[in-house]
Amino acid sequence: MASSNAHHATGFAAGVIAAALVLHNGGGHGGLVYASVLLSFVAGVAGSTAPDWLEVAWWSRKRRLWIAHRTLTHWGIGWLALLGLSYHALGDSIYAAAAFGFACGGVMHLLADWPNPLGVPWIGARHSLNLWNSGHCDLIVVAASWAAAWFVGRHAGLAGMHGLQMLRHLRL
Ligand SMILES: [Zn+2]
Repeated sequence: MASSNAHHATGFAAGVIAAALVLHNGGGHGGLVYASVLLSFVAGVAGSTAPDWLEVAWWSRKRRLWIAHRTLTHWGIGWLALLGLSYHALGDSIYAAAAFGFACGGVMHLLADWPNPLGVPWIGARHSLNLWNSGHCDLIVVAASWAAAWFVGRHAGLAGMHGLQMLRHLRL
C-alpha cells in the first residue's frame, strides 16, 4: 500500500471531491444538502482507507487478514460500480451521498496503490504502474489528489454554488 499517511492525505482530497460533486448534483433540499455534503466528505475520508481495513478481521482478537491483501477489497470494478450507482442515486437519498463519498474514497485509495509494484486488481489480475515502491513519492500521489480536488472543485463551481446555496437558504 501507499503509506497510510498518503492514504489519509488523499482521503481528504477524495472527501472534498465527493462533497463538491454532491453539492453540485443537489444532495436533496434545504438542510439536507448540507447534511449530504458533510456526510459525503466524512464517508470519503473513511472510504480512502477502507480497502485496507476491510481486509483485516477487526472483529477477531488476532486481527489477521481474512482475505489476501489487495484482492477483493481492492477490486476496481466493485468500487467503480458503487461510485456509478450511488452517483445516479444522488439527491434521492442521503445514503446515496454517503455511499458516493465512500466510493470516491475507495477509488482514490486504489489510485494511490496503483503505482506500487504490487499493483491493484482493477478488473481481474493485479496491474501495477510499477512507478515506485510503497511509501516513496507519496508527495506526488498527494499532490495529484489535491490537484484533482481543486479541478473538481472549480469545475463543480464549489465557491459559486456555495454562495447561491447560502442565498437560497437565507430566503427560506
Ligand atoms: Zn491498499
